[in-house]
Amino acid sequence: MSLLTDWRDKAYATDADPKQLNALWEDYFAREKKIYKQLLADPDTEVKGTVKELAEKYDMTIELMIGFLDGIDDSLVASNNLDEATEDTEVSLAFDKEKLYKNMVAARADWLYGLEEWNAIFDEEKQKELYKEQKKSGTIVKEKKIGRNDPCPCGSGKKYKYCHGRA
Ligand SMILES: [Zn+2]
Repeated sequence: MSLLTDWRDKAYATDADPKQLNALWEDYFAREKKIYKQLLADPDTEVKGTVKELAEKYDMTIELMIGFLDGIDDSLVASNNLDEATEDTEVSLAFDKEKLYKNMVAARADWLYGLEEWNAIFDEEKQKELYKEQKKSGTIVKEKKIGRNDPCPCGSGKKYKYCHGRA
C-alpha cells in the first residue's frame, strides 16, 4: 500500500459511511480552495518541498495533502509521480496555468475557476476562450464524491442539490 492508494481507497470508497465520506470531502474542498487561492495569488513562484513540509505549510494532514497532490497532478508542469510517494518525497506544485484553468472547468468546479485570483492571470476574454476550448474538447474529469443533501463545496451554504449539484 502507498499513501496514494490509501487516499484513493478511502476517498472513493463505495462501501463507506456516506456521512463520514461527505465530511471528508467537505473538509477537503474547503482546504483545497484555500490552497488554490494562495497558489494563484503568486502563480510564478514554484512551491516545493516534501509532502510533509507542504502539509505543514498548508495546515493539512498528510492524507489530505496527498489528495490535493493527486488532484493537481494533471495540471502540473511535471508530474510528481505519486505512486510511491511517502511523506519525505520531494514534490513541486509548479503548475501550467492554462492546464489548471481548463482542468477546473472540466471538473465543473466554478468555485475554483471562478476564483478572483484568476483575473490577475488571464483577462476575461482569455478565460472565456479557455473555457470554450475545454468544453469543446469534451474531456471529463472524474467528479468527486459529494452527497446531494450536503453543503455545496463552493461555500454558498446551500445544499449541493440546489446549487452546483443541480442536474
Ligand atoms: Zn455551489
